Amino acid sequence: MGYRRLIWDWNGTLLDDAWLAVEVMSHMRQRQGLPPLAGEQYQRLFGFPLQDYCVRLGFAAGDFPALNAEFSRAYEARRLECSLQPGAAAVLAAVRQAGLEQAVLSAYHQPFLTQIVGHLGLEPHFAAVAGLDNPYAEGKAARGKRLLKELGWAPDQVLLVGDTDHDCEVAAALGVACALFPSGHQHLDRLEQCGVPVVGRLEEVLEQCDL
Ligand SMILES: [Mg+2]
Repeated sequence: MGYRRLIWDWNGTLLDDAWLAVEVMSHMRQRQGLPPLAGEQYQRLFGFPLQDYCVRLGFAAGDFPALNAEFSRAYEARRLECSLQPGAAAVLAAVRQAGLEQAVLSAYHQPFLTQIVGHLGLEPHFAAVAGLDNPYAEGKAARGKRLLKELGWAPDQVLLVGDTDHDCEVAAALGVACALFPSGHQHLDRLEQCGVPVVGRLEEVLEQCDL
């Protein structure tokens, strides 16, 4: 409590895109003769590293690079169909109005991240929008450490809001607090095992910040 800065995950947390991931992956499975993917099944299988997730989906581990490229092409072609999570715009505005600083930290490709944040008109809310230039060269935790340094933020003032168990791991690596929002990418059961607050609505993040 008493956080002065917020780090937001992007996919799932601020952007409502789990439905698109399910549609794209379900289609990919069917093309390989596998059954379609249901939403709850996806929530129980999705996680990082992505290669392990692809194996859980029934694909061969060796096919991961091609699968990842295929998923990215299909997802990117439709990414602007995704809208913000309910309440996201209002919460970002309220946090900013209260004088707290905010940033985005994402494993998403930096150019795409910059573009969609701009497309949704959210840039003014953020001190930084940090994605990855090469997802294989630097992980989210390493990018997060650089982000804290770039912004000069002390970890004990920061709350990271994410939607997966990996976000919780990243927060622990950064030494910052974490809250999780069940967005559709991972099942609530899995998030509740992380041992950090789980918020049912993004508005509850304001309470986490004493706003
Ligand atoms: Mg996410």
